[in-house]
Amino acid sequence: MARYTGSVCRLCRREGTKLFLKGDRCYSAKCAISKRPTPPGMHGQARARKMSEYGMQLREKQKVRRTYGVLETQFRRTFDKAARVKGVTGDNLLALLERRLDNVVYRLGLASSRAQARQFVRHSHITVNGKKVNIPSFLVKPGDVVEVAEKSRSSVKFKRLTGEDAIMVTLPQWLEREKNTLKGTVTKMPAREDIDMPIEEHLIVELYSK
Ligand code: SF4
Repeated sequence: MARYTGSVCRLCRREGTKLFLKGDRCYSAKCAISKRPTPPGMHGQARARKMSEYGMQLREKQKVRRTYGVLETQFRRTFDKAARVKGVTGDNLLALLERRLDNVVYRLGLASSRAQARQFVRHSHITVNGKKVNIPSFLVKPGDVVEVAEKSRSSVKFKRLTGEDAIMVTLPQWLEREKNTLKGTVTKMPAREDIDMPIEEHLIVELYSK
């Protein structure tokens, strides 16, 4: 499957905001966008000019797509699905992206970034309702229990999530996880107010509605 293999920090600099693609490094002084907040490339600084309406719509779409680590075709497919579902298309789009299994693993604090969460899912370290699921785009629903597979629990990458020193992430309202466990539950569908990233989803709807 095709995937982006370049520097992920370039993506943040291109979008002019932190997309939190590198786990712990994103919260440290080493974060590239804190050090060099200009767009990447030789003419990065020169590019900082007034953006057209289309430019703003495109950048917003790219920002969201890159945040969730979804390629263009899949993102477009998700948008089409959101448009078919009853309700506000922008809200539906964000809810569908939030419900992805890789995002849920990240939101539960079982991985330090969505990229790492995607790898955990692909490598069969994650179960949903006791069954292994290795599809990062798998959509969870209320009542689903997402857990680290039994045979993976002794691995160092998961062991550090339990015990005295384990740091618990702040969970969104629609997910539950008890401290020192490697298991979380989806309690309800994610609502727009549960997504705290600064996203102007109406720009994406306008872009795809042209
Ligand atoms: Fe983006 Fe994280 Fe790199 Fe900072 S460290 S530029 S937030 S990916």
